Amino acid sequence: MERVISGIRPTGNLHLGNYFGAVKSFVKMQDEYNCMFFIADWHSLTTHPKPENIRQSARTILAEYLACGIDPQKAPIYIQSDVKQVLELYLYFNMNAYLGELERVTSFKEKVRKQPDNVNAGLLTYPTLMAADILMHKADKVPVGKDQEQNMEMARLFARRFNRIYDVEYFKEPESFHYTAEAVKVPGLDGSGKMGKSEGNCIYLCDDEATIKKKVMRAVTDAGPTMLNQEKPEPIRNLFTLLELVSGPEAYDYYNDLYNNMQIRYGDLKKQLARDINAFCAPIREKILAYSADEQYMQQVAREGAERARESADKTLREVREIIGFRSL
Ligand code: AMP
Repeated sequence: MERVISGIRPTGNLHLGNYFGAVKSFVKMQDEYNCMFFIADWHSLTTHPKPENIRQSARTILAEYLACGIDPQKAPIYIQSDVKQVLELYLYFNMNAYLGELERVTSFKEKVRKQPDNVNAGLLTYPTLMAADILMHKADKVPVGKDQEQNMEMARLFARRFNRIYDVEYFKEPESFHYTAEAVKVPGLDGSGKMGKSEGNCIYLCDDEATIKKKVMRAVTDAGPTMLNQEKPEPIRNLFTLLELVSGPEAYDYYNDLYNNMQIRYGDLKKQLARDINAFCAPIREKILAYSADEQYMQQVAREGAERARESADKTLREVREIIGFRSL
């Protein structure tokens, strides 16, 4: 069975965009592939989080993934910093990664622009750490969004380069994986663009009913259609996209007909949307709370995940050390 690995950045809570764009397909993938998920807490150090936040965000994200339906029996979940073997592979890849190529990575250049006073070496070598995460477990496929494509190119480059330097066929090149043919883009509630933490337009899976209602009722709309069968402007299209995701095609068709006949009342649509988002989130929210309160189970998941990851990592490192020439004396 092909191995799929995905790193999860522990930055804040999961929102509907994360769910429909990524986590929902992870839940399906775990039945079809040999999946592994890890919480990338070392990666998160590039922005210098506070110690108390590091632990808390790893716990939060673990509880949320479990609540969404990731089953650690099918797909181990581990915390990156529990598998120290990754650091050794990171070092080896860094020895064969060149300043020029790392500086050319678009996401690095973006960070340099956005945070000029914190251009640290961890940011520069983000692609080598990511390559170590992936190649450590010989992953075949890595589910990534567009923003990670270049890092995947780098992972393939480091794999090829290692093989060439040591004249081996050791690492295989991991593929970017798009589980569904068409990428789902979940829009925000602010009338344009997609739902995202930095946009401040998210509905989080852990939001309570009142918060969901408040956010949805405040969503941007317009004065309503002025012609029959009028094309929808972006803010309205966004509401319909959300409606289709959480309420399903019948609700979509119902409001779509009203829109086309110029009889739509956005207040009604929003009320239905808020109700359906809440109905969708409520069971997940309950599970998030239950997992968060179950310290013992969370520890067990992280411990067992780390054990399985270490097993696979140890094997790779033994072989890599041998190839590089670190034979025991
Ligand atoms: P982020 O929370 O921005 O690090 O996103 C993690 C992953 O969630 C991304 O790689 C996407 O696969 C997915 N994602 C985030 N926001 C959206 C969105 N608005 N629509 C669809 N997918 C999304």
